[in-house]
Formats: sequence, structure tokens, C-alpha cells
Amino acid sequence: MQPLNLQTLIDQTFESISNKLDAVQPTLDVRETGFVISVSTGVARVSGLPGAGFEELLIFPGNLFGIAFNIDDNDIGVVLLGSYYHLKAGDEVTRTGRVMDVAVGDELLGRIINPLGAALDGRLTPATAQRMPIERSAPEIMDRAPVTVPLQTGIKVIDALVPIGRGQRELILGDRQTGKTSIAIDTILNQHDQDVICVYCAINQRASAVAKVIATLRENQALDYTIVMVTEGSDAAGLAYIAPYAATSIAEYFMHKGRDVLIVYDDLTHHARAYRELSLLLRRPPGREAFPGDIFYIHSRLLERATHLNQACGNGSLTAMPIIQTEAQNLAAYIPTNLISITDGQIYLSPDLFELGILPAVDVGKSVSRVGNKAQHKAYRAVTSNLKLAYAQFEELETFARFGTKLDDDSRRVIDHGKRIRACLKQQEQQLVSLTAQIMILLALMEAVFDTIPEAAMDSAQLAICQASDRIPADIQSRLINANTLNDSDRKSILKIAIQTLAQFEKIA
Ligand code: ATP
Ligand code: MG
Repeated sequence: MQPLNLQTLIDQTFESISNKLDAVQPTLDVRETGFVISVSTGVARVSGLPGAGFEELLIFPGNLFGIAFNIDDNDIGVVLLGSYYHLKAGDEVTRTGRVMDVAVGDELLGRIINPLGAALDGRLTPATAQRMPIERSAPEIMDRAPVTVPLQTGIKVIDALVPIGRGQRELILGDRQTGKTSIAIDTILNQHDQDVICVYCAINQRASAVAKVIATLRENQALDYTIVMVTEGSDAAGLAYIAPYAATSIAEYFMHKGRDVLIVYDDLTHHARAYRELSLLLRRPPGREAFPGDIFYIHSRLLERATHLNQACGNGSLTAMPIIQTEAQNLAAYIPTNLISITDGQIYLSPDLFELGILPAVDVGKSVSRVGNKAQHKAYRAVTSNLKLAYAQFEELETFARFGTKLDDDSRRVIDHGKRIRACLKQQEQQLVSLTAQIMILLALMEAVFDTIPEAAMDSAQLAICQASDRIPADIQSRLINANTLNDSDRKSILKIAIQTLAQFEKIA
């Protein structure tokens, strides 16, 4: 036996140890962790994360997420996205290396979710395969196409006078309780046969109002093509802030698949307030009405994402309907003027009209659609050419008539006609009118067929016209939707049916 040399023994031992170490694969998990310095309402200050980037997602104990908002030399101001009552100073915070994203996919249709993708309808969280960042840059100019296809709302006054096109951004604004939500919901209901996906994003609305909206959508089978995203007043302000961006990413998923999508933000006033709250808590300098300096930018970058994509990009579209609440009819307040300048038109709802029972309370004079006329069905142009003017003249004369002024025959005729216009533009919520029925009503109105009908009978007369519109031959109906103009023979046929239908009401007079 060979004598055991001490050096050999040491070498062998080292070799066996290093072999064993090699066998164990080193899996070092390097994490940058920081800690909470302070927590206040909806925001936290965090230190010890020198590598964290702007808007990076951070994880707090209890699986609470936060977004790095203010990056300073020594600490980070973080917006918290959930309940934060368990947080304490000194709690560990980890980086994720990614920005906030949201689950997107067809599975979301019919679901009610919060901005983090969690289900609020008592069912399991939707299992989607794909996620998209909530903040995405708007489509390039070269990828966009002009707005040319109408988005029918089924509401006569809007389709006729302030038409909306697919890919347009149309603001709905008015004081509280003037029917803003009703217009948006009616528009969603009218998409049942239009092949449009809808996203309704309720930002800090009253829970009872949201419950009513969801019930309406469900009763009318509109949830089949709609996604509802909700944040409640009791949620963290951070959730309200990210909600419209998250909802837009979900809508964009469908748009990039070539679908037409309608998104309703109800409402951006609450969104602006949530952002103001966060900014003040993060000690950003306040500006006009205490809103931070970038309040315009947060809404413009959101609404720029609405567009009509060109053929090469799939021809999808995203139509945005932001809602804004005004105070005491003040359209010149900060947020309303911002939004008016960002969007392609506005529908203004007047509390005065609402009180008079003129519903929907759309103030035709203050409402405008800057691109919709190009996207309106051509048949409308033939029947609404002087509607706005006639209505404006009537409103002016009506004010005089109120003082008991004796009117000449011409003025009386203008007033009588105007009253019929007003009656024809009135509409109960959820009583949507098809394109053919609208054209028939407007044509009868324009040709003064309604003028001989007593005012009291106007509602039933309109109802009769809606029913009679089914009798319009199918070829004419399809021409109303597709043709470039309303030809004379079609016009005569439609008018003939209208005159026949309305004859029964004249006799009552
Ligand atoms: P809020 O400021 O509270 O959000 P809002 O402006 O969204 O209110 P809605 O909730 O849509 O207003 O409507 C207010 C009320 O008016 C509701 O009770 C609704 O049923 C009624 N309403 C709205 N539009 C019509 C209409 N065209 N016909 C009849 N009632 C209507
Ligand atoms: Mg509302």
C-alpha cells in the first residue's frame, strides 16, 4: 500500500468538495428591495430602490401594487392600487421591472371587472392569455384613416343633428342629472345589431347608478358585447386614475383585431379629481382650480388613442365618448374647456330643457360634431338640410311669443313647425329608433306633414310612423343605408307611406 501523502489527501478533499459544489447549480435570485418610509391616503413614500424607473410597478406586502410616480434623489412617491390599511413604515417593497398592465381578451366580454382585472360579478377572474400595458402610445398618424363610417346611436336628435362617426371622440357634458349616462347607455344598447364591441368604464360613480346601468345592459342582452369596468368611490384614488387607461387597452385589443369598438368614460370629472387628489398628496405644485400642470396631458393622451385605423392596420376603430359633469352650466370651467378642445365635438345637455321635460335634453345650439357630418348616412343630409336653422328660428321666436306678443302668420307658422320639430326630437330613454324610421320621421317633418297634426297626438303619430317604417320595401331600406343619396322615387315612396299613416291623426284635429 502506498503511503498516504498529506498533500494528496488535501487535494482529493478539495476536489470532492468542488465537484459537489458544481453539482449544485447556483440559482441566485437578485432582488432590489426597498422599504416604506410613510403611508398616507392612497400614496406611499418608498426608499432604497435606486434602480426603479418612472411608472414602474412595485409590489408591497399583501400583494398590493403601486406605481412609481415621483422619482426623487432619495425616495419615490408611489400611487397605491388597492387597500393600503395594512401597510406600515419599514415594510418591504420590491421592484417588478415592468409597467402596469391589464389582462385583455375575448373572455372579458360580458364581465364586470375592476382596473386590475379582478371580477366584480361574483364569478371567477376571467382567464385571459394576453396582457397589455395600460399606457400605450396612440396609433401613428400614418396608421390612421379618416372617420367615414357612422356610429348610429338610435337617438334621433344625435343621429340627425350631431352625428357620431366610428373613430370619433364625442364629449357628452352637462350638469348633474341631465341624462348624460342615459345617452351613453342608449348608444351601447343600439349597437346590438351593429357589430360594435362596447366598453363602459364607470369611474367613481354612485354604486346605485352603476348597478342600474348594469341591470339595464343585462335586461337588454347588451352585456353579450359589452365589458364593464368599475371603480367605486371607496376604492383607492390610484384605481380611479388607471381605470380609463386600462379600459382603453382592453378596447384597443379588439380594435387591433379589426373590430369597431365604442368606449364610454363615465365620467372624466371624477378621473380628474382622483388625479388632483394624488398629485396634491404627492406634493406636486397645484395650478388652476388646484389641478396639477399635466391635467390636460392625462386626458389628451387618453383620447388620442381613439381612432379609425387604415386598411393595412386592420380597419378597426375606437370611438370614445367621454362624459364630463359641469357645475351651474359653466362650460368655461377648466376641465370642460380642456375636454372640449381635445375632442371632435360635444353634446351639451341643458338642465333647463330637462326641467321642461324636453328629453333627451340636448341643447342643439351648443352641440356640435366636427367630423360626424362626413360619416353620417347620406340619406340624412337630404332630410335635415334646414332642420337646425328652422329649430333655431323657432327657439328665438318662441321667446317673444312667451310675452304674449301678437304674431303675424309667418311667425305663427314658424312656431307651429318648430313645435313639431321639438316633438319629433323628443325621445324616451331606451326607446331607440331605427335608421329607416328616423328618415321617415324627418322626411315627414321636412315636408310639413306633421304640421297639421295636433300637438297632443304627436307621440302616437310618431309611434305609428315607427311601426309603418317596416312597410318600406327592403330594397329602399338597403339603399337608405348604403346609397350615396336619397333618390327622388325612394323619397316619394317613403313620403307616401308617411302621409297615409298620418292621415288618421289629422282627422282628430
Ligand atoms: P349624474 O350626473 O348623476 O351622473 P346623469 O347626467 O348621468 O346623472 P342620468 O342618470 O342618465 O343622468 O339621468 C338622470 C335621470 O333622467 C334618470 O332618472 C333617467 O331615467 C332620466 N332620463 C334621462 N334621459 C331620459 C329620457 N330621454 N327620457 C326620460 N327620462 C330620462
Ligand atoms: Mg351619470
